[in-house]
Amino acid sequence: MQFGYSETCLDHDTGPRHPETADRLRAIRRGLAKRHGVEYVDAPPAEKSTVAAVHEDGYVDEFHDFCRDGGGNWDPDTVAVEASWDAALTSAGLAEWAARAALDGDDGRDTPFSLGRPPGHHAVEDDAMGFCFFNNAAVAAQAVIDDGLAERVAIFDWDVHHGNGTQDIFYDRGDVFYTSIHEDGLYPGTGEVEETGEGDGEGTTLNVPLHAGAGDADYVYSFDEAIAPAVERFDPDLFIVSAGFDAHRHDPISRMRVSTEGYAMLTECVQDLCEATDAAISFVLEGGYGLDTLSEGVATVHETFDGRIAMDPDEDPDEKNVELVDEVRAAHGLGAK
Ligand SMILES: [Zn+2]
Repeated sequence: MQFGYSETCLDHDTGPRHPETADRLRAIRRGLAKRHGVEYVDAPPAEKSTVAAVHEDGYVDEFHDFCRDGGGNWDPDTVAVEASWDAALTSAGLAEWAARAALDGDDGRDTPFSLGRPPGHHAVEDDAMGFCFFNNAAVAAQAVIDDGLAERVAIFDWDVHHGNGTQDIFYDRGDVFYTSIHEDGLYPGTGEVEETGEGDGEGTTLNVPLHAGAGDADYVYSFDEAIAPAVERFDPDLFIVSAGFDAHRHDPISRMRVSTEGYAMLTECVQDLCEATDAAISFVLEGGYGLDTLSEGVATVHETFDGRIAMDPDEDPDEKNVELVDEVRAAHGLGAK
């Protein structure tokens, strides 16, 4: 894969006891150093106006001033320093680069994956939250739509948390499909099955809030039986994966049981769907707080694009999650299984 990476993102210093640190990117780099076919690409920071296409001007200015004044705690979890402004613009710029590269034809072994931080999917139009300041995936989707490079974009969020920010930004939009698999009841508490979009966006939000303890089989089943048919019907030009790795069974902040191999399975699910819909694919890093599981997860996605074949899940999906997927299908008019 081609990895968007910039040293600027290391300067976003969240302090000594924060889970979202620059060591995450260093760990990913170390993991990728052992693999072949890895390429790094630096990309320019996003323009302020590009970020403001999905965020309110007042919020963007307020965050800019906050950093210029030295930063601090925006909220108890979400921390910035002076350098966080440039890091946040760079993180968004890397996501934008990945989307543009994918639409420019970079696929297969050249598929783009942006390794930016701070992450983005909790950032809403007018506020930062959950370690996120600018919604990187949303900035990327909006940029390529505004430039006429894509008419329809789907964002699939496999981070263990619901991407409330991405959902909110596009909730009433018919041209961006947001879909998430996340742990039910975890931060930030949104992402119910009933949240399906509104107005022009009715039906373009699809949530699968899996029960705690879900593993590879539950994720693959959710993708194949709910997400894939809905996205196929939507028919996107670009498919952005909001790729967090905190659903891993050894991640410290969730109770899900996805294995490292599970990320290969999900990557194949994405590849198959995008082949069927002829959509370009880009990846954007979100969360993932176990340094080993994070770096192995990213490397596994890379290896899958490098030709490695994923194993099948070694168990069946849990009955409770099968019922949940039935509810999701019903909410989206996909019929009974
Ligand atoms: Zn997360």
